[in-house]
Amino acid sequence: MIEAVIGLEVHIELGTQSKMFCRCENRFGAPPNTLTCPVCLGLPGALPRPNRGAVERALRLALALGARVAPVLQFDRKHYFYPDLPKGYQISQSRTVLAEGGQLEVAGRRVGIHHLHLEEDAGKLLHLGGRASVDLNRAGVPLVEIVSLPDMHSGGEARAFLEEMRLLAEHLGVAEVRMEEGVLRADLNVSVRTAGEAGLSARTEVKNMNSFRAVERAVAHEVARQSELLSRGERLSQETRGWDDQAGATYPQRRKETADDYRYMPEPDLPSYPLSAEWLEEIRRTMPSPPAALRQRLGALGVPDEAVALLLEARARLELFDQAVAAGAPPVQAAQWIVGELARIERESAVAMADRAYPGADLAELLALVADGTLAGPGAKRALEISYREGRELREVVAAEGLAAIGAGSALDALIDQVLAENKAAVGDLLAGQEKALGFLLGQLMRLSGGRADPKLAASRIRERARSCSTDS
Ligand SMILES: [Zn+2]
Repeated sequence: MIEAVIGLEVHIELGTQSKMFCRCENRFGAPPNTLTCPVCLGLPGALPRPNRGAVERALRLALALGARVAPVLQFDRKHYFYPDLPKGYQISQSRTVLAEGGQLEVAGRRVGIHHLHLEEDAGKLLHLGGRASVDLNRAGVPLVEIVSLPDMHSGGEARAFLEEMRLLAEHLGVAEVRMEEGVLRADLNVSVRTAGEAGLSARTEVKNMNSFRAVERAVAHEVARQSELLSRGERLSQETRGWDDQAGATYPQRRKETADDYRYMPEPDLPSYPLSAEWLEEIRRTMPSPPAALRQRLGALGVPDEAVALLLEARARLELFDQAVAAGAPPVQAAQWIVGELARIERESAVAMADRAYPGADLAELLALVADGTLAGPGAKRALEISYREGRELREVVAAEGLAAIGAGSALDALIDQVLAENKAAVGDLLAGQEKALGFLLGQLMRLSGGRADPKLAASRIRERARSCSTDS
């Protein structure tokens, strides 16, 4: 039996306003090389200054993971040559890292954390029309790297760890994790051994994975590849490999560097900064709740597990939920409308909840209008959709668009009589006991009323009117 041993190195770009060591804006999607200055371009004589907000965000992660924070913040130079690294070295941490130890609980299992450290991101190479260009907007963006212990044994576990890490970063306010923007990336360490054996085969590092699915697939591929080599009696060598998503395979990149190759040295332009117990205590006291605590809180409100998982997917969803509940919405219904109807509208309208900031008070109002019968099913959905898409106040939308439900009374009866008169055959079928005809007539009524009739009330009223018009004739 072959056993896989997996560790992850997770890189998260911190969601600060400015970069790690200069005041340049930290923003994705700006025109190439417009967010740069002498510091992040690595020009001679430029001096770095650390970003306190970045350090604080990384410390939130360290504290949430239960890691031991170092007494001082100290930076080192990590040398390597690559065109996206103008200084020829990256400012990172090696002698003293930000924090060591800790763990992350993933689906009831604990994965140990080796350490966390701070560093700066490199720029990006763009390959266009046979030419390579470099965009240095990303150079100097703050990164935290979290290195796990080799505590995982399958692609599924590695994926779950990365997903939980994303939720942690999202809810601690450390980063807004948009995977497609490369905010979260992972390197994978995979080795295999015959189960029960203590020693490990040489490990392979797969670099720069930026999707959960890719991580899961890359593990499966590496385990199969290494097992096959072992079974043929070949020796595995320590190496760095890349991932080809289309081929679903890893491929050799280069021999793995050792720490010596990087010629680490203390960063002479930055002194060491004390990380005071008072500051750590203040961060601990003021930082938002991690996902584990949020799951408990939402569960205690009666929100079902599946809805909890969907609510936690984005911080904006949870914020909307909390606002709506504070404004008097029943928690279970508020959760269901957010992860159901509102999530659908968000997908279809391409306006992200994070950008729209839909008011929780309006969602609470919607639920109250449904509860008192002012809004019925389709009308309620329509009111929510218009008010979300167009950013209009809910009560105003209900009035202006005439979405209030048509309750019991002459208006409903008049619509029903019209439907019955236009669909005599269906009325006959209904009276003959064919229940399918009721659904058809109800559908016609909904169309005629623009979805404003209360379906339950309308169904029973259709039966009554159908019976009475048959006795009339
Ligand atoms: Zn800069």
